[in-house]
Amino acid sequence: MSTGRLTIDLDAVVANWRALDAMTNCKTAAVIKANGYGLGSVNVAKALFKAGVRQFFVAVTEEAAPIRAELGPRPEIHVFSGHMKGDTDTIRELNLTPMLNSVEQVTHHFETLPGHPFGIQLDTGMNRLGLEMQEWAAIAGLALEQNPTLVMSHLACADEPDHPMNPHQLANFHMMTDGIGVPRSLSATGGILLGPDYHFDLTRPGIGLYGAEPFAQGTPAIELEFPVVQIRDVAQGEVVGYGNSWQAERPSRIATISGGYADGIIRSLSDRAIFYHGKTPCKLVGRVSMDLMTVDVTDLPDDPKALSLICAEQSVDDVARRAGTIGYELLTQLGGRYTRRTYGK
Ligand SMILES: *Cc1c(COP(=O)(O)O)cnc(C)c1O
Repeated sequence: MSTGRLTIDLDAVVANWRALDAMTNCKTAAVIKANGYGLGSVNVAKALFKAGVRQFFVAVTEEAAPIRAELGPRPEIHVFSGHMKGDTDTIRELNLTPMLNSVEQVTHHFETLPGHPFGIQLDTGMNRLGLEMQEWAAIAGLALEQNPTLVMSHLACADEPDHPMNPHQLANFHMMTDGIGVPRSLSATGGILLGPDYHFDLTRPGIGLYGAEPFAQGTPAIELEFPVVQIRDVAQGEVVGYGNSWQAERPSRIATISGGYADGIIRSLSDRAIFYHGKTPCKLVGRVSMDLMTVDVTDLPDDPKALSLICAEQSVDDVARRAGTIGYELLTQLGGRYTRRTYGK
């Protein structure tokens, strides 16, 4: 086996959902967009459905098709991008719930799919998706007559608990939705951790299910390991990899491992990543290339067969920090070339 090995623990995903659900007194959905943050949306959805999850969110209608095919008609599948032109047939056939985000979408939905379930997305300050306060004031009466199943908004700074944007958006959400008599949702993972004021009727965790920050107390859900293709001795003063970017300061043993930026190990990890062999750290040396990386294994007593990047010694967030990014990006970039081993229910 010559590709990296990605191990996915669905029991950990379920445990994380349960832990997040237990932090609130409301319902908890699951966000499985971007192929379940890289872990495999169908497997993740199946495991969560078995655990009792009945509300899922995807980013775009295309992501919903395999989920509906696998889970059948029972779960509600919400689409963050709403009802885009060209999606009408899919929304009807798959019975999706679009989160309408503009006056144009609301009008289009009522014209093309009258009586079909929908939700409303409000902008409370992030300025990304959703109706603004004045727009909502203008069409709320009309929209509420059609019985939306959910009214939601999204927090911009929920991963910073003390950020003044959080209470600001909360106040706006109250102003826009108090008394409407429709289930409300404001919080993703970060918002759940902000406490009960932010929970409303439904939460929408994504990243926390997959064991990454801001849900720091979550259970890790993946491991990532790369097989060694070749090992060589490098004399002091010799160089390694593209651009000669690393030079041996001592006689070194260099392992070349199968995996690179085509597998989501982004180039900013060049000369920065740490791999593990058991508990022993080994530094990546030189640049990450498309399919290969070079690691200094001089200090290991024996030649390794494989080296781990995400493991008990090092979390997704540790690696993301080294890369100058966030766990979300690392997970969603993992790519299609891994040998995936998924276990759990
Ligand atoms: C991605 C997303 C979520 C999930 O966010 P996490 O931070 O991953 O928990 C929830 N709501 C919206 C609108 C999103 O775009």
